[in-house]
Amino acid sequence: LAKAAGKHRLAAFADGMDRAVREKADLTADLARALAEGQLAVHYQPTVLLGDGTATGFEALLRWHHPERGLVPPDEFVPLAEETAHIHAIGAWVLRTAVRQAARWSVAAGRPVGMAVNLSPRQLGDDEVLTVVAGALAETGLAPQQLTLEVTEGVLVRDVDAAAERLAGLRAMGVRIAIDDFGTGYAGLSYLRRLPVDTVKIDRSFVSGLAAGGDAAALVSSIVELARGLGLDVVAEGVETEAQASVLRDLRCHRAQGFLYARPLPVADVERSGLVPGLARPSEHAGAATTS
Ligand code: C2E
Ligand code: MG
Ligand code: MG
Ligand code: MG
Repeated sequence: LAKAAGKHRLAAFADGMDRAVREKADLTADLARALAEGQLAVHYQPTVLLGDGTATGFEALLRWHHPERGLVPPDEFVPLAEETAHIHAIGAWVLRTAVRQAARWSVAAGRPVGMAVNLSPRQLGDDEVLTVVAGALAETGLAPQQLTLEVTEGVLVRDVDAAAERLAGLRAMGVRIAIDDFGTGYAGLSYLRRLPVDTVKIDRSFVSGLAAGGDAAALVSSIVELARGLGLDVVAEGVETEAQASVLRDLRCHRAQGFLYARPLPVADVERSGLVPGLARPSEHAGAATTS
């Protein structure tokens, strides 16, 4: 009897595996068409100064509107794109789209609007990334200093030296480099000196514990001081409450990103939000415009 039950469980398990494998294959096949069929979109979330909440720039975050499944989160499909090399075409499209948007908003604002774009390890594993970035900048005339490329410690899983060399190549073009999800990887702090980096983004998992006491504040504090010591800029990710923002200010962290300020938004919503100076809320400024 026990043997039969075991066999049954095994069959059910194998069934589940089958389904998961099929599901993944389906999603991958759909992903291959998503770009051509206009199902991908880029949303933008501001990075703000903790002092007064002013937006200093935006991060481009990819969205997939699947025709049957609805919105598929990037954590579910970016890894698939990464496995299948679709990430090259998709990543190049995100870069061009985001850089073009930054160029438009900069014109509207009358001052440079910064844009951050996430790069996957596989994108950084190919020299093509240099051509794509150079092309996007040349096409739009965006100053390279306005573009930040965000990479995670995952880039180190591949060839560290090659990754460092490509990052150096991008930086030589004037583009900035940020380490994303900082503190979650295994690489430790030493690689901060090995990679050419401008900005450290403190992972949300540290920020979420900030107001609760415990170790989080000490950890964030040491990251801020370390980054400062290396002359790097620091951004706190995933700030959701005023209490967290207040602790961050006390710890001398100057920039943040999170739902407290704004969620990632489609272009039209960003433009309505007043987050881009010069593209302010019409309801607030319609009256002011006629009196000036
Ligand atoms: P990430 O680059 O660390 O982006 C930050 C993520 O945190 C985003 O999730 C954002 O929506 C979310 N977030 C921001 N503020 C808050 C907050 O206050 N609370 C909470 N709970 N979450 C917050 P999203 O958009 O789902 O993206 C997830 C990840 O997918 C990104 O993490 C990034 O690693 C990857 N990704 C997104 N777009 C791209 C892309 O164009 N290319 C590549 N290679 N990866 C991308
Ligand atoms: Mg990021
Ligand atoms: Mg992050
Ligand atoms: Mg992340």
